[in-house]
Amino acid sequence: MRSATLKWMMLLLTFLVGVILLVQLYWIYRVYNFEQKEFNTNVVKSIRGLCEDMELNDSPGSQIQKLVDHPNPNTFLLQVDTIPQRDSLMFYITSEFEDFDVFTDCKMAVYSDSSKNYLYQAYIPTAATTQEQLATHTLITDVDLPVFPKNYPYIHLFFPHRQQYIIHQLNFWIVTSVLLLLVLIGFAASMFYFYRQKFLNEVQKDFVNNFTHEFKTPLAVMKLAAGVLKGTGITDQPDRLKKYSGIIAEQTEHLENQVEKLLKTARTDQHELPLEKTYFIPNDIIKDVVKDMYPLIRQTNTRIELQMEDENKSIYADESAVAMVIVNLLENAIKYSKEPHVIISTQSENGHYCISVKDNGIGIEKKYMKHLFKKFFRVPTGNVHNVKGFGLGLNFVKKVIDAHKGKINVNSIPGIGTEFRIVLPGL
Ligand code: ADP
Repeated sequence: MRSATLKWMMLLLTFLVGVILLVQLYWIYRVYNFEQKEFNTNVVKSIRGLCEDMELNDSPGSQIQKLVDHPNPNTFLLQVDTIPQRDSLMFYITSEFEDFDVFTDCKMAVYSDSSKNYLYQAYIPTAATTQEQLATHTLITDVDLPVFPKNYPYIHLFFPHRQQYIIHQLNFWIVTSVLLLLVLIGFAASMFYFYRQKFLNEVQKDFVNNFTHEFKTPLAVMKLAAGVLKGTGITDQPDRLKKYSGIIAEQTEHLENQVEKLLKTARTDQHELPLEKTYFIPNDIIKDVVKDMYPLIRQTNTRIELQMEDENKSIYADESAVAMVIVNLLENAIKYSKEPHVIISTQSENGHYCISVKDNGIGIEKKYMKHLFKKFFRVPTGNVHNVKGFGLGLNFVKKVIDAHKGKINVNSIPGIGTEFRIVLPGL
């Protein structure tokens, strides 16, 4: 499976995990509402039982709903005909709560319409309430309930811990949802790990392919040249001898450069790029690099333009690292252009030193920009155009610029060209 397919699968999976989580939250919300309704029903059932036990009013059981007022979720007011006696009210209401599974504490008060106040108040703990909890509940037992002025007597039932009690009832759902969430996170993490592994495998495979190509071609050329040199009579043909030994020397140098590139990357991977800073004139370095790369420039028919401002400006940086940066950018500008025309310009801006390398090459699509400086990354079209490389050059460039606390920007239009612009901080 290609990592692109895997990427889509990962997106789909993330979406599904999101949907499962939303459904789970919705279900918890539904169960919460259901538990709330269940609680209210149980309280009303207990009240009905209480009315029957104590004959508090004349209404038949089915009419009890009309006598119950519910001014807020925690409060129930039961209209009564006669004011019940405190101890028997406490006894019956406790047993009704137990019968109908209302296992949370309650503060109760009995209101008299003639005195417009409560005749008495009492705290009803649950069967599960311990002495310790009772001690912490003193606030509720001591606090007076607010009066709801009515022109009839009523029993006020207040459940201070109703919300906690309902949430406690949801514990099973919450625990299973958290477990499910953990399982999903574990699943998503292992998928992500698998995706990363797959991506690294592909990158490694590409690298080995490029590596093989980069080393096999010069070796094959050298083998051929060595074959010619081994042939009889070559000492009598000094021109051919010179030509083929020249080819071997050129290819050896090419191989040496590639090995140096790989070693450099391996070294910069292990620790921060070590810098040996000195004062030097960067414009001179650029000219030297262009001179050193002349064989490649000539071979590829590249047109090079140098537009340099401030010829003698010097900067404090690692000379050889900056030179390698220019080599990499110039090499790419040539590699990724059919008829290369490269403009290298430099200027000083607010005390900073800027270098721009601009080409008229194949350009880079926007979607690849964010990967450009990653190790081993190569734009897929790089292979289509049969331009080989390791995908290490720009990674090295970025490391050098970062070590100098500078900046690098890329502007590119596919089919038109690319500009790499570097800003190195002032002295
Ligand atoms: P490589 O060895 O593949 O050239 P680099 O790290 O130097 O590795 O570049 C990474 C990729 O960025 C290249 O494979 C190429 O696709 C793209 N790239 C770099 N420079 C240019 C450029 N000047 N024009 C177009 N594409 C470029």
